[in-house]
Amino acid sequence: MIREAFRRQYGTDQGVRVFRAPGRVNLIGEHTDYNLGFVLPVALDLACYVAATPSPDGRVHVYSEEKHESREWLAAESGALPPVHNWSDYPAGVARELFRAGYAIEPQLLLIHSTVPEGSGLSSSAALEVSCALALLRDQKFDALRLPELCRAAEVAFVGTPCGIMDQFVSVFARPNAALLIDCRTLEGQAVGLPQNVEILAVNSMVKHALGQSAYKQRTEECAAAVDVFRQIDPAVASLRDVSVALLEKVLPSVPHVIGRRARHVVMENERVRLFVNASCRADLERMGQLMVESHLSLQHDYEVSCAELDFLVDTAIGIEGVFGARMTGGGFGGCTVNLLQRGVSERFRLEITAEYQQRFGITPQIYECHPAPGAGELKNSEKIPDPAPLPR
Ligand code: ADP
Ligand code: MG
Repeated sequence: MIREAFRRQYGTDQGVRVFRAPGRVNLIGEHTDYNLGFVLPVALDLACYVAATPSPDGRVHVYSEEKHESREWLAAESGALPPVHNWSDYPAGVARELFRAGYAIEPQLLLIHSTVPEGSGLSSSAALEVSCALALLRDQKFDALRLPELCRAAEVAFVGTPCGIMDQFVSVFARPNAALLIDCRTLEGQAVGLPQNVEILAVNSMVKHALGQSAYKQRTEECAAAVDVFRQIDPAVASLRDVSVALLEKVLPSVPHVIGRRARHVVMENERVRLFVNASCRADLERMGQLMVESHLSLQHDYEVSCAELDFLVDTAIGIEGVFGARMTGGGFGGCTVNLLQRGVSERFRLEITAEYQQRFGITPQIYECHPAPGAGELKNSEKIPDPAPLPR
């Protein structure tokens, strides 16, 4: 299907190869990645696909099936591209970062098609970056461990979103049938098996409040301010990752109120990731669910990145029989919740949550089943999902 679209757009499909990179849902560990802490995402079978073939005209062409728009530039000038402040900055930014890192950017025709819903906290942006990176690299040997960093650099320095490393890392390194525990400082990844008898569902609130962008920046600044306070007590603190629960409790009374609550979220959220992984290994579903709800409450009250729609979806979900836990996932201010369900109850869950949300907000939520999928790679035929790169240790 993507090859047909490619032929329609470019009038050829000679030499076309297709690269895939998944979106993700984060089970727990929210707003911890840019504080160099821990996260536990799973990759989705929702993914971004890029079909690509060499171009004879010296230019890189990108076309998005979702945007019905294209952009092109001279391949040789990839290192000096300016942002134009639309979606095409993601592929252009990736090209620039790859070029500056010493990779060759060859003239190519690229067609983008993504099944990851945009701006919903399931990381359509990283899926776009990583799939474009693989297509642009094509046959060049590359260091998989550098790939997430280069894609993140495109998003931070070119697009201008100060994001952490989680989305790009899991899109590259996810394991099938497992969540990925990522240490965002050391960039080590560890596959974490999930209990057999659960299902993960993402519920899309279908809202995106404008506050999100500015609040994200503000939170990163508040976290930096918190680090300054803790560093006065313990000079070894370089990020909130280094603050133990004991140090938090000792210092909290003397920290300005807002800064203290932001720090408390990050420190306790890192702790919750550890506890969640332990609970998952014991198949303690009740505990896993509890930790998700604690995470949500912390994001709602301490970190203040939730919104009425997300709070309602979480409150409603945990009142449905067979639901172990739920929380907002992604940056916040809209987007999705992630829900941990007993296997077999998802149909009833869908009906109930849809009806309640419609009644309260007049909006029909989209619901996605999340089957932990492998990380990015080339599709050898349009059906087969390839093995991801070996995990860094
Ligand atoms: P999220 O990563 O949670 O989906 P972001 O705001 O980080 O949300 O990224 C969404 C942006 O990524 C979109 O606004 C758009 O610019 C870009 N994007 C995602 N998917 C596509 C696509 N298929 N085609 C073009 N641009 C896309
Ligand atoms: Mg994103």
